[in-house]
Amino acid sequence: MSLAELDLSLVIPVYNEEENLSLLWPEIREVLDPTGLRYEIVFVDDGSRDRSPELIRGFREQDVRVRLVRLKSNSGETAATDAGFKGARGRWVVTMDADLQNDPHDIPLLLSHLERWDAVTGWRTRREDPWIRRISSRIANAVRNVISGDSVQDSGCTFRAFRRQCLSGLTLYRGFHRFLPTLLRMQGYRVLEVPVSHRPRRFGQSKYGIANRAFSAFRDLLVVRWMADRQLRYQVVEDLGGGFREE
Ligand code: UDP
Ligand code: MG
Repeated sequence: MSLAELDLSLVIPVYNEEENLSLLWPEIREVLDPTGLRYEIVFVDDGSRDRSPELIRGFREQDVRVRLVRLKSNSGETAATDAGFKGARGRWVVTMDADLQNDPHDIPLLLSHLERWDAVTGWRTRREDPWIRRISSRIANAVRNVISGDSVQDSGCTFRAFRRQCLSGLTLYRGFHRFLPTLLRMQGYRVLEVPVSHRPRRFGQSKYGIANRAFSAFRDLLVVRWMADRQLRYQVVEDLGGGFREE
């Protein structure tokens, strides 16, 4: 298979998810193999201290569609996602968590919208997280929408699909995984939100607490607000000559 023919790159940031990986990988295959899509899975190991990288190497031995991009040390979800984007070769890119909270069975649904939309972002309508997380996310989404001027129901949901070409112009900073739909819309891309299912985390722990997320995400939000205010808006109405002189 030539690389030019890849339909899909699945980008999955992984930080200490050893118990989830051995269930996630067969589930992805079970969903994607019958679709006939030519795909690769880019697991980005974000400096895990458990057996996650060894497990991914084991998958790779069984199936060359699996790739391991391993970061030297824990660098954060946005960094891991960015490394995955840079390595992705498919025409489409899907991001999802490694913790089984996103259901791979939703991937075909997300992809089905990419013919008409540049990106699709999940909306966890029945969220399976502790009530304190659900409430804090609801508040965070409301605050984000007021301050950024965008409207995104569930900006914390990183189960998303993109046309890969949309991603090349993005410069990401720590914490920006929460703002990808807004950043893409700022660049003029069309982003759709669709309901996705959500499952409880059975193994391992969430990497975020309420306090660390609230403060850093609020600071990031102010930056995104500033970017939205200050982005360049202009139309070229004439460009005479274009640099060539006719002989
Ligand atoms: N993750 C990562 N690096 C980090 C934190 C998280 O690669 O520093 C990964 C994590 O393994 C998971 C995804 O990013 O696959 C989302 O993290 P988590 O599930 O803890 O976030 P939540 O769903 O609780 O918001
Ligand atoms: Mg999760």
